[in-house]
Amino acid sequence: MCGVSWLPSSAISALRRGRVTSRFLIQSKDVALYRSVHSNASEHLKSILREEINNIKAAGTWKEERIITSSQSTLISVAGQNTKILNFCANNYLGLSNHPEVVHAAKTALEKYGAGLSSVRFICGTQSIHKELEKKIADFHCKEDTILYPSCFDANGGFFESVLTPKDAVLSDELNHASIIDGIRLCKAQKFRYKHRDMADLEENLKKVSDARLKVIATDGVFSMDGNVAPLPDICKLAQKYGALTFVDECHATGFFGKTGRGTEEFYGMMGAIDIITSTLGKAVGGAAGGYTTGPKELIDILRQRSRPYLFSNSMPPAVVGAAVKALDLLINDSSFTERIQKNTERFRSAMTKAGFTIAGENHPICPVMLGDAKLATIFAEQMLCRGIYVIGFSYPVVPKDKARIRVQISAAHTKDEIDKAVNAFVDIGKKLNVIK
Ligand SMILES: *Cc1c(COP(=O)(O)O)cnc(C)c1O
Repeated sequence: MCGVSWLPSSAISALRRGRVTSRFLIQSKDVALYRSVHSNASEHLKSILREEINNIKAAGTWKEERIITSSQSTLISVAGQNTKILNFCANNYLGLSNHPEVVHAAKTALEKYGAGLSSVRFICGTQSIHKELEKKIADFHCKEDTILYPSCFDANGGFFESVLTPKDAVLSDELNHASIIDGIRLCKAQKFRYKHRDMADLEENLKKVSDARLKVIATDGVFSMDGNVAPLPDICKLAQKYGALTFVDECHATGFFGKTGRGTEEFYGMMGAIDIITSTLGKAVGGAAGGYTTGPKELIDILRQRSRPYLFSNSMPPAVVGAAVKALDLLINDSSFTERIQKNTERFRSAMTKAGFTIAGENHPICPVMLGDAKLATIFAEQMLCRGIYVIGFSYPVVPKDKARIRVQISAAHTKDEIDKAVNAFVDIGKKLNVIK
């Protein structure tokens, strides 16, 4: 019977009971034959992958996934742990991932609009709430129009090849997110990488492409490993001087960075200066999923016609759209969300700095506690978990060699007490491991 384990259980029990239908028998013989002929290729694949798996493990970069048994929150339950754990490593910047009003809005949308569209947007997958969310996002960023995608990865994947040709040029910060790098790979424009936040290098590259039809400078607004910010005022100056467009990925800024959460543009007091913004709804803005591109109307019109991750992938599920609409409403109408995350960030950064730690980045809720040594970062994070605090150590190749760190992410939902608890644990363990005195 083991050869038919791929059959549905109803069919297996029918076989066991002797009620064999010829249909099942024919299928199982065919499959057995197919597998006997074909097993070589499959074994070959497995042996190649096993070797790769072993190499990753030997390099110490294999990632295990921790299983969370509760909703995303500042306090989470984790499989195999009896007590709740204080979470300092989610992108749940505003605490909206499990906010009762967001969950309720998702349920309402689910009931009114159904589980999903079973269609892409342009065939029969556009509902009134998709249009409502697109309008809300455009207004939020002071842009003309917005196009939704299943994710920001798709928004970045779908921009460059839809717009740029070999006559055009794109200049990209060397530490940009993988999705920008992949998006640029897909297009036929001339490609240049400038040194991280290095304006002299960006300018050198801009000089090389003076003949290009369109020039696009592409950067993350906030870089997720360092919590540091792209120098948008200087980038815009160069963009103006060389007639280039600016493209900024705001995933680690939208909803919470800048006074009212409008992102890096607002942080620098230059709302509306950036030409094209992409961002996610899967971090601060509800945390479910979804991404978007927002900018000039003609750009959004063309993306709806040409952008492949939009044209050839299913519409965003109504419940996810409903959650994002509510999350945006909450953070726009109630300034306490952005105020709390800013206060919490200050509280953590100043207490940690005072205790002698080096925190990288620029007053952003991403707080990289710099430790240097990779092993130290791993041991430190493990001991934090023993104290009931969940933080992650990052080391090479994710960050440069000798720049290992623990990345702490602050949320508006953390209480003062929770922030203090994390600081106290850092101080105790930091002393024990000789990181601070
Ligand atoms: C998280 C992230 C993305 C991907 O967003 P998804 O919506 O999860 O696909 C893209 N760019 C940056 C900078 C990010 O941090």
